Amino acid sequence: MTDCIFCKIVTGDIPSDNVYRDEQVTAFRDINPSAPTHILIVTNQHIDSVNKLRVDDEALIGHLFTAAKNIAVKEGIAESGYRLIMNTNADGGQTVFHIHLHLLGGAPMKHPMG
Ligand code: 5GP
Ligand code: ZN
Repeated sequence: MTDCIFCKIVTGDIPSDNVYRDEQVTAFRDINPSAPTHILIVTNQHIDSVNKLRVDDEALIGHLFTAAKNIAVKEGIAESGYRLIMNTNADGGQTVFHIHLHLLGGAPMKHPMG
């Protein structure tokens, strides 16, 4: 997608503070963090949102979660805890339409959600 911010981050056309990368996903610090640790894990391949997922994407989305867990360990927040969020469309609060998982931690998360 030529006009997608996260596609440009994946290709390196927009600078980002990367924390992890492999052949399927890229992770970088959120530009406007909502928690002491706020990392976005994105698929290297463009997918608009959860609404566009296909059965063939299941392994990729599983990998996104495993990457998030490994990053949480590396960031030192696995034991204290963290929250993983994936927003979808307007009511979900999605602003970038390239699938991404928010990894939030480093402080107690607020309740209730929503
Ligand atoms: P959403 O609201 O779609 O779930 O999350 C989009 C996230 O992307 C927001 O938390 C926002 O701060 C972050 N973001 C938007 N543009 C950029 C950018 O250019 N670089 C980085 N690192 N984060 C961005
Ligand atoms: Zn994209």
